[in-house]
Amino acid sequence: MELGFIGLGQMGSRMAIRLLDAGHSLTVFDRDEAAMAKIVARGARRASSAAEVAAASETVLMSLPTPDVVRNVVFGPNGVTDSNRTTKLVDLSTTGPKMATQIAAELDKAGRITLIDAPVSGGTNGAEKGTLAVMVSGEKEAVETLRPVLSVFGKVFVCGDKPGMGQTLKLANNIIAVAALAISSEAMAMGAKAGLDPQIMIDTIMASSGGNVALRDKFPKAVLTGTFDFGFATGLSYKDVRLCVDEAEAMGVPMVVGAAVRQLMAVTNATFGADSDFTSVARVLEGWAGVKIRSRQ
Ligand code: NAD
Repeated sequence: MELGFIGLGQMGSRMAIRLLDAGHSLTVFDRDEAAMAKIVARGARRASSAAEVAAASETVLMSLPTPDVVRNVVFGPNGVTDSNRTTKLVDLSTTGPKMATQIAAELDKAGRITLIDAPVSGGTNGAEKGTLAVMVSGEKEAVETLRPVLSVFGKVFVCGDKPGMGQTLKLANNIIAVAALAISSEAMAMGAKAGLDPQIMIDTIMASSGGNVALRDKFPKAVLTGTFDFGFATGLSYKDVRLCVDEAEAMGVPMVVGAAVRQLMAVTNATFGADSDFTSVARVLEGWAGVKIRSRQ
């Protein structure tokens, strides 16, 4: 299929390469020339703007950092809506249900482009291997047309017929994932300070009732090694948690634990910067505890 892809960062680059490897032809744009060059070298066509991608493709996929960037790429100058070729727009980013609903409504008014919500989970490893969970919502027929494309990224979960529903599911997933990272950082700092070997702690907890995905994947790769490079930016994770707690509050669903996780991500963001890796939350705890959570083996 003739596809367009905008946003070739940690996730987008890997998803774009999978599409190329699956035989799709791709026109791509990223405002970062180096990010674009990598994908062009793999056989994609370079575009000089989002509008140029849209002019070349009926279906455009986006993997962009924040809701504001997505809005700007769709409606801003040289944006997707500047061209009248595109009929389906797939947002793989985490932008929250509010933005997805607004964008879909505005596109609906213009009556030409159908928005499909398809936020993903599974990290850079899942993006590379094609094992992401793809949380799809939107008009049924468009979703079915796009299923073969979305299946290239991983397992497709159709969760609703309106844009925004996939985003809500994604926010629910992410608050759980970041809460696990936050509470695991606290518990691991306590154990390390008491003299326990962090590796023995993880081996034991993963065979016990506290086992979770942060201890399974994030700690061994990015905390025990001291590299703090799992592949997801603190600023983006903080954005996900903020979106989730705000959306929940707007619906009348207080999130007490979520609010604490939000504050811990705010501290991590303020201490190590938005570009640091989100596993830096463990560094915050290391600083407070005065101990390193490192493998001793
Ligand atoms: P990233 O910052 O690595 O990539 C974003 C890309 O968008 C960058 O290459 C950037 O140059 C490009 N970009 C920014 N503004 C642009 C613009 N105006 N026009 C064109 N390109 C622009 O982010 P990421 O980690 O790949 O995440 C992308 C989205 O996927 C985010 O919404 C994130 O929350 C979500 N997500 C990330 C992960 C992960 O593990 N990294 C997992 C699931 C979902």
